[in-house]
Amino acid sequence: MKIVFATNNKNKLKEVQSLVPLNIKLLSLEDINCTVDIPETQATIEGNAIQKAEYVKNNYGFDCFADDTGLEVNALNGEPGVFSARYAGPQRNAQDNMNKLLRELADKNSRKAQFKTVIALHLNGKLETFTGICKGEITLEKYGDKGFGYDPIFKPDGYNETFAEMDLDLKNKIGHRGKAVLELINRLNNL
Ligand code: IMP
Repeated sequence: MKIVFATNNKNKLKEVQSLVPLNIKLLSLEDINCTVDIPETQATIEGNAIQKAEYVKNNYGFDCFADDTGLEVNALNGEPGVFSARYAGPQRNAQDNMNKLLRELADKNSRKAQFKTVIALHLNGKLETFTGICKGEITLEKYGDKGFGYDPIFKPDGYNETFAEMDLDLKNKIGHRGKAVLELINRLNNL
């Protein structure tokens, strides 16, 4: 069985491929000659993941799964959320995004936040979603240089280091994306 993983990230593809049953072959967007920027115009993280999976099914005919992630900050009513990538503007710059978030939180009492990943799976005419959440808090300044995005200012609950100070293995184990992927794998293993 062939399923598209709506990503161009070869590392993500390889990682997930190694976890799914042998009879499932994952294809990247490149593999199906999808070179367009798939629209992500929904108001929620779930909505965007579903939009991407449906886009591939409708335009290319393949069963597909797609992920979308956002950082939700309690004191900012869940922002940046679905706007995480372009929080400080269309340049989608991680430093600008972190600086804006630290400024917005400067006068707030709570720094609680969570990362949320939703994976939408469009398979055999049915749509399902899998969610992974990692709770934590936004630090007062940036720490560490591993990872990407908001990693230097996110400290997961129960740990004394940010995602950017942590080994990738540990981040994958306790992180939002890893948890959502695990749910997806469980589903694919029980087809
Ligand atoms: P995407 O849905 O994976 O493209 O993620 C949207 C945005 O959320 C990214 O541009 C990053 O700014 C942020 N983000 C997603 N995952 C992570 C993560 O694991 N650590 C830090 N930031 C992330």
